[in-house]
Amino acid sequence: MLIKLATNCGFCFGVKRAIRLAENNPNSVTLGELIHNSKETDRLKNRFAVSIARSIDEIESGKKVIIRTHGIEKKVRERLGEVTNDVIDATCPFVTKPQRIAEQMNQEGYQVVIFGDKTHPEVKGVLSYAGKDAIVVAAADELRRSGLKDRVALISQTTKSIEKFASLAEDLIKRCKETRIYNTICNATFDNQEAARALAKEADVMLIVGGKNSSNTKQLLSIVKEDCSDSYLVEGKDELDRAWFEGKKLCGISAGASTPHWIIEEVKNSLLEF
Ligand code: SF4
Repeated sequence: MLIKLATNCGFCFGVKRAIRLAENNPNSVTLGELIHNSKETDRLKNRFAVSIARSIDEIESGKKVIIRTHGIEKKVRERLGEVTNDVIDATCPFVTKPQRIAEQMNQEGYQVVIFGDKTHPEVKGVLSYAGKDAIVVAAADELRRSGLKDRVALISQTTKSIEKFASLAEDLIKRCKETRIYNTICNATFDNQEAARALAKEADVMLIVGGKNSSNTKQLLSIVKEDCSDSYLVEGKDELDRAWFEGKKLCGISAGASTPHWIIEEVKNSLLEF
């Protein structure tokens, strides 16, 4: 069996930046998980003593606080400022951008429509800047059931698919008098998705390596399943099952934007042992 890595996969710009900030600030604490990958957050804890606080109340006094890659809600940011001045903002600039757009559109009187998963920390953060009329929709049918104002502004969670975003934009244009469309989908996600899609077309088994709570990793899995039904999501080499690869000729590997290179290498080396 041949093993082929997607031409684009793994750590994106925003995650690399956040990890660099954490490594440069040992003994600090991150508010929430810095990135959605428990193996990497464990490594930061073991090598750099960077711990995780689930809330502001859990932050030990005197500690430097790092804001996670996906950002935090506006009121939490304000409260954090009251508790400490020693804050390092590792929010990815591609996440800060929709926060700013949401705030501005709300101030200008537009109803903000966010295409995304309302339970995701990034979306909760963006929503907190978007005003009381804002809505979050995960799909076109949800949008059809929602009441809309005449003037709306559409933005997206960074990890969403461009096709679905375009389809929501079309629905809004038909329903509202004025629609402002901001494509806030991140290119890193898009590049990873296209490379994974291309690889899935030629592979007869696909592995997606990444955190099971990572939105862009789960999205990658659903994309590759369209072309390669034998696709599996694993967090690391220990989850590999030899039976998946019996009789297969080409195994493709891709990885979410928060998956470090060393985990991808471990998975690849385990496959070579098979
Ligand atoms: S996937 Fe994009 S938005 Fe998310 S952290 Fe990476 S660069 Fe930033």
